[in-house]
Amino acid sequence: MEHIKLSPLITEQQILDRIKEIGEELTAKFKDKDVVCVCILNGSFMFFSDLIRQMDCDFKCDFLGLSSYTGTQSTGEVKVTLDLSQSIQNKHVILIEDIVDTGTTIEAIYQMLRARKPESITTVTLLHKPEAQKNDFKPEYVGFSIGNEFVVGYGLDYNQQFRTLPYIAQVQNLN
Ligand code: 5GP
Repeated sequence: MEHIKLSPLITEQQILDRIKEIGEELTAKFKDKDVVCVCILNGSFMFFSDLIRQMDCDFKCDFLGLSSYTGTQSTGEVKVTLDLSQSIQNKHVILIEDIVDTGTTIEAIYQMLRARKPESITTVTLLHKPEAQKNDFKPEYVGFSIGNEFVVGYGLDYNQQFRTLPYIAQVQNLN
């Protein structure tokens, strides 16, 4: 079995504090609007469930399943494994993503959902790696900007491990 060394990067308290701030901003912006919050599976389920509980407005939840990574390498291909269960036409969509790395995934989702004619799409990502991004997609809300390092925890995995860590850690010994 591979021995993996982790070094903590963002604490549980820092995550929860930042989520509270983003939740308040989203509440102010979307109060009284017709909103669908979209959880981008798999990595953002933990962020999604903490964030929506900090949003004091009426909204629907939906789930979009995608796969694009094997190990730590992006395949560059985004595959829909589970589609939304409702129409988003004329709705305000809040896309909730775990991490924007190259930007390929969020851009592909954005284009796919835009074709369904929502009133607006707002993107929220817990983590952003600006140095790794290969396009100019700009998420409206970013929890934390980090360097070009592979991270796990708080929903993010490395080959299905470490998702349940309550904090974000950097994986040390990847080549
Ligand atoms: P992008 O298309 O922006 O390159 O990659 C987005 C997806 O890649 C994320 O939703 C996430 O699943 C995965 N990803 C990118 N960077 C990391 C990372 O540092 N750790 C983990 N666990 N997944 C990552």
